[in-house]
Amino acid sequence: VTAAPAGAAAVVLLSGGQDSTTCLAWAMARFSRVVTVTIDYGQRHRIELDAARRIAAAANVPHALIPCDSFIALGGNSLTSSMPVEAASAGALPNSFVPGRNLVFLTLAAAFAWQRGIADLVTGVCQTDYSGYPDCRADTMTALQAALRAGMDCPFTIHAPLMHLTKAETVLLLRDLGRLDWLSLSHTCYNGAVPPCGTCPACQLRAKGFAAAGLPDPLLRAAVRPT
Ligand code: ZN
Repeated sequence: VTAAPAGAAAVVLLSGGQDSTTCLAWAMARFSRVVTVTIDYGQRHRIELDAARRIAAAANVPHALIPCDSFIALGGNSLTSSMPVEAASAGALPNSFVPGRNLVFLTLAAAFAWQRGIADLVTGVCQTDYSGYPDCRADTMTALQAALRAGMDCPFTIHAPLMHLTKAETVLLLRDLGRLDWLSLSHTCYNGAVPPCGTCPACQLRAKGFAAAGLPDPLLRAAVRPT
């Protein structure tokens, strides 16, 4: 069995956050057919899954939720347990690092794509402003692409359009694609707060990007409630 050749369709890993939302807009400008996949890995902030669902609906593309609860059993990180989110100490990874997460996610997305004759995968990983996660780096993606090609005998391409962009450049990319409004549906806060807490590392990185781009964050505008 051979999967269809690359080009016409793409699977986008959609987490419900800013980067994957930008990747969805990027993919829709390049591929005639886009399918989104969200991995339910037991993230304690279930609001992420709702955000992904709403963004896919706004984009009018199919959305699949794939369960993957093994990371809860593995433990040891602040995204699938009640452990407080802490910034990294010198030379160490932050406790929001979920070991193997992107490797597993892309492998699941590739399996999903393979069954549908799709060979193009799109992910929002980025090494420019990255939180120290080694599975967001370009060399990891290059190696994983080779493993997926060999392991499923399919000419997969992993697209990581944000890999070398700053957060500000990512904001401007989505604006240029005309989809900045989708970010009013997105979720970034590591504390799961609505409106966003503004103080966790994820909120701060997001705010820094918008400030550098000189644009207001549509999420903060949406979160302002009349008094
Ligand atoms: Zn936050």
